[in-house]
Order: sequence, then C-alpha cells, then structure tokens
Amino acid sequence: MSAAANTNADPPSGEQQDRHEHQLVPSDMTLRVKALESLLVEKGVVDSAALDALVDTYENKVGPRNGAQVVARAWVDPTYKKRLLSDAPKAIAEFGYLGTQGDHMVVVENTPKVHNLVVCTLCSCYPWPVLGLPPVWYKSAPYRSRAVIDPRGVLREFGLELPETVEVRVWDSTAELRYLVLPERPAGTEKLSEQELAALVTRDSMIGVAKATAPKAGGKG
Ligand code: FE
Repeated sequence: MSAAANTNADPPSGEQQDRHEHQLVPSDMTLRVKALESLLVEKGVVDSAALDALVDTYENKVGPRNGAQVVARAWVDPTYKKRLLSDAPKAIAEFGYLGTQGDHMVVVENTPKVHNLVVCTLCSCYPWPVLGLPPVWYKSAPYRSRAVIDPRGVLREFGLELPETVEVRVWDSTAELRYLVLPERPAGTEKLSEQELAALVTRDSMIGVAKATAPKAGGKG
C-alpha cells in the first residue's frame, strides 16, 4: 500500500473541515496576539527575549519530555505499552499529562517493518500534553503537503533513510484525533534505566521524522 493511500483513511468531510480550523494566512487570533505582544514589548511591559525563552521551553523542553517519559515506560513495561496502544489518552493520563489538544490521541508503534510519520495537512494539530508546541517546520506548508506526497523524501531530508522493505505510514492529525509515534527502542539499551531511556527519546522521533537516539558507544547499554 502506498504511503499516500494510507493517510488516515478518508479525507475530512466538509463538515469536519468547517470545524477544523485551518488557514494559510495568520488567523485573526494570531494577528491579535502579535499586535498585543508588539504593544506590550513597546511599552516595556514584557521582554521579547523572555517570551522567546518561554516558547522555546514549551517547544523543546517541557513538552517533548512528557512524551519521552511515556515512550520510555512503554519500552520497559509491556502491559503499559498495551494500554498505551489501546487507549492512549487514558494511559497518558496515568502520568498526569492531560489537557488541551490531548483528549483524543492515538499512539502508533514503529516496528522493524513499519515506520509511522505524523503530519497535520490542514494546519498544525499536535498532541500538546505530550509534545508541547509544534516546531515551525511542522506548521510549514511544504512539510504539510510533502509528508503525504513524498514521505520518504521528507524523511531523507531529516537524515532518515529507510529501506524499501519498511512500509511508511502517514497519519494526518486533526482537531478530532492527534497522533504520537512510539519509536523503536534502540538496540543496545537493555541495561539502561527508564530515565536513561527517556533521554534517548527526541521530539522528532515522536513525530516520526527521526528514530530514537542510539546510546553512546562505550556507555552503559
Ligand atoms: Fe490541524
């Protein structure tokens, strides 16, 4: 089955599209936020560097670390993994990771034969409680269109060359359903603790544009 044909079943109906906010120009809300930020910075009420640091924290630190904990638990605990794959929101809530944009989540598992890739073709739907805020490239038009048309090409640009024997499945996140990739546990990590394993789980590996980081040679693994 081709990757494109495998894209999360049917395209959204007109009704779904109406409920699913997406736009090529910034939304009214985005523009209002921008205007407000400019004004606050201009008046010296907030510091734009501090704002950038805050966004960076949610984009790169806090958010994806939650997902990494979930993945590491699934790697070490087969019963947790089973719960995670059958009812992701409930299994993720065991960690207390709840909230906006996380109510309807599905976890898709990478295996030696299947590689999953997540995109939101319409805008930037993303599982906030486990990944934080989406990176800029995830929201970009080229990624959103090319992830479906040429997933292997996109993966290659991220430095991930997959053999033809590996099936690539592309999942289109929507406001109704958001996907998280359970990456494969890297080889040579049998002796690592759950926390050490979590450190190998990157944001990109949970979107599916990368694999989990291999442990350093000569390390404990
Ligand atoms: Fe979206």
